[in-house]
Amino acid sequence: MEDLELIQKAINVEVKNKYINIRGKKQYFSEFMKSHIRKIIKQSAFPERWKTIFQCFDLYSTSTMPDRKKYIELFVKVMKLELKKEQHKADDEKFIPAIDADVTYIKGVGPKVALKLNKIGIFTPADLLFYFPRKHIDYSQRTLIRNLQIGQTTTVFGYIKAVESFVTPKGLGVMKVRIADETGSININFFYAKSSKYILERSKRQFPQGAGIVISGTVKLNSYDGKYTLENTTYSIMSEDFLTKDNLNLARIVPIYSLSENLNIKTLRKAIYNAIQTYKDSISNVVPDYLREKYHLLDKKDAVEQIHFPNSMEMLEKAKFTLIFEELFLVQLKLALIRKKNRDEHKALPLHIERDGLVNRFIKGLPFELTSAQKRAVNEILNDMNSTEPMQRLLQGDVGSGKTVVACIMLLAAVENGYQAALMAPTEILAQQHYNNLVNWLTPMGLSVGLFLGSLGKKVREQFGTGLRNGQINIAVGTHALIQESVEFNNLGAVVIDEQHRFGVNQRLMLRKKAENPQILTMTATPIPRTLAITMNGDLDLTIIDELPKGRKPIITKMGIPRKQIYQLIRDEINAGHQAYIVYPLIDESETLSAKAATKEAQRLQETVFSDLKIGLLHGKLKNSEKDEVMEKFKNKEYDILVATTVVEVGVDVPNATVIVIENAERFGLSQLHQLRGRVGRCDLQSYCILTTSGASQDVRSRLSVMTETNDGFVIAEKDLEIRGPGEFLGVRQSGLPDLLISDIVRDAKILEIARSAAIDFVNSHNIENYPKLKDSTNLTLDGTLLLGT
Ligand code: ADP
Ligand code: MG
Repeated sequence: MEDLELIQKAINVEVKNKYINIRGKKQYFSEFMKSHIRKIIKQSAFPERWKTIFQCFDLYSTSTMPDRKKYIELFVKVMKLELKKEQHKADDEKFIPAIDADVTYIKGVGPKVALKLNKIGIFTPADLLFYFPRKHIDYSQRTLIRNLQIGQTTTVFGYIKAVESFVTPKGLGVMKVRIADETGSININFFYAKSSKYILERSKRQFPQGAGIVISGTVKLNSYDGKYTLENTTYSIMSEDFLTKDNLNLARIVPIYSLSENLNIKTLRKAIYNAIQTYKDSISNVVPDYLREKYHLLDKKDAVEQIHFPNSMEMLEKAKFTLIFEELFLVQLKLALIRKKNRDEHKALPLHIERDGLVNRFIKGLPFELTSAQKRAVNEILNDMNSTEPMQRLLQGDVGSGKTVVACIMLLAAVENGYQAALMAPTEILAQQHYNNLVNWLTPMGLSVGLFLGSLGKKVREQFGTGLRNGQINIAVGTHALIQESVEFNNLGAVVIDEQHRFGVNQRLMLRKKAENPQILTMTATPIPRTLAITMNGDLDLTIIDELPKGRKPIITKMGIPRKQIYQLIRDEINAGHQAYIVYPLIDESETLSAKAATKEAQRLQETVFSDLKIGLLHGKLKNSEKDEVMEKFKNKEYDILVATTVVEVGVDVPNATVIVIENAERFGLSQLHQLRGRVGRCDLQSYCILTTSGASQDVRSRLSVMTETNDGFVIAEKDLEIRGPGEFLGVRQSGLPDLLISDIVRDAKILEIARSAAIDFVNSHNIENYPKLKDSTNLTLDGTLLLGT
């Protein structure tokens, strides 16, 4: 393996670059890896195993970032196996190979089984131990069919003996499933409203003859044949062998695992069982003893055993708690350590606010009073700034809650102390809007605000650059163009990043490089549920503006109302002097297609229903100057209706708009809908949001109904997270979420809070150097050093 050093280097570079499939001199990382794996396949004693790895790298270029990370980890793991010179001493009874040796060392795992295990990511005994069950079946809850009693709610384990189906004259589909165990049989009926023979035939396939079934329900007498049956049932179909004696002997509560094709669950169960027998005692505790005592955790080795083969449901719960706590504690500890390091290494310049300085003059001069939530946010921010610890704060506020004013106060605090400040926005429209606001507010105070956009001409950009370097510009507003290498500040003291989830961590770091230690505030209008926020941004303090300015009326949201009525509502509002948005969805992830659809609709509306009204069109394919022009005209009421794609999603502020129609609402996530809805209801006028759906199923309707029930962005975000899961919710590939093996931050929110405070407390009052095991577990950054050893 003379190429090993090369491979290690390549992996190091790829990891350092956050898995972007980096292009080397000749080829992309994935191609480089593939060509080397091809060579390895030829030399290795385990070519089949390497073929699995090859497939991973074949998918690499089209995979998500977390998957890419997994593939590299897999490569490293398998390479380590390849390099390991462990002797298989069959004659030495006491010989125990390392826990990260080849899985074939486990009793009952030969080369053939090993390959099947490889397919589900199991290469080593350790992988077996940590291949946690999907669920368990509690055989102790079972009632034999012979012993069923009327009225009892219980569970029957049996086999599917026969399935019959028919449609009644009234169109009700009936499926009769006959289930038998070793003591008898019963018929259970499933009903399908509005069914047809064809649909029934298809449904029949859910109940393959001979398959096992675990079915719970209430025992009733069937009114037709007078025999026992189960009603209100829930069931799972099992593989045929689930009831064999073998399983029952293993444990009364039996683990069910996700399997690949051809891998027999009994084989897997046995392999895991054997691995536990051999390696249990080498599993040591990672969580410090004082915490394990405090939270009544099991020893880790017992937790691992019990999560697979629990002695009781109670032990299973304890095992789960122990392992989930450990996992979440480690994540939170890493974040707390990063934060501490930041605190220790970077000192910020404390900023002070004078009684009649810029900040206080600005607040006094506002045409409105800050809400108490805004005041609280301002206090927290100014407090942070008044310290040598660099500020690391995330400001979350629902749409329309008035974050911009708060941001402006922070910028002023820097200027008041003789520094420059910067405000970054994710889109040019938004940067422009912020710029306009700041110019309105601040030029009367004698301050100079500069705008920096990628699309501006070279001359303007140069002018801006000069003004920035010589300190003539106090506050710079811009898109990410602002953090390009060439932009230099004179003395940057504070930065506000709007809609931070659209910026990568890297961009944040780059900005930090623009100055010694600017105070950084990130803001987001997408309420991120706390569980998620503290998992991905655990290194940030949270401030939440949970109050809208006085006099705002909740937006009335409706779904499923007829076209005619929608158009009438738009007309009524426009007659009352207001304006409307009509939003078209993203089509196939393509702004081009969406732009086309929006253009066509705008034309149609202009030529038919709204021929007497002025309609503007805004989409991502317009040039920036065109977009600005459209927005400006809409603001100045030169358009009655703005037909748009999702480019209006973020932050656009036209208070006079009171209706937003969102077409094909089913194509949006809830959080996104909430963002779009936030374009209206931005002053004291009653506003409306109309959702249309095309051919929406019951499922879609009930998902969207949350929108009609609440205006609270946090409630909606929680629901959205619950429905879509963290990865989808964030909607970004590089979400920076940790890989969680057993925890689910939605389900385990309570444990997450406990783990977080335990981690923060640990960092404040303990030295990790005294906990070598724990230190190891938080230190695992993957790079090639793992390959060659250190
Ligand atoms: P967002 O939090 O969505 O960025 P903005 O900062 O754009 O909200 O504020 C929305 C609107 O509310 C703006 O027109 C702003 O001037 C106004 N506003 C902000 N704070 C207050 C307040 N305390 N009272 C009344 N209006 C306010
Ligand atoms: Mg905003």
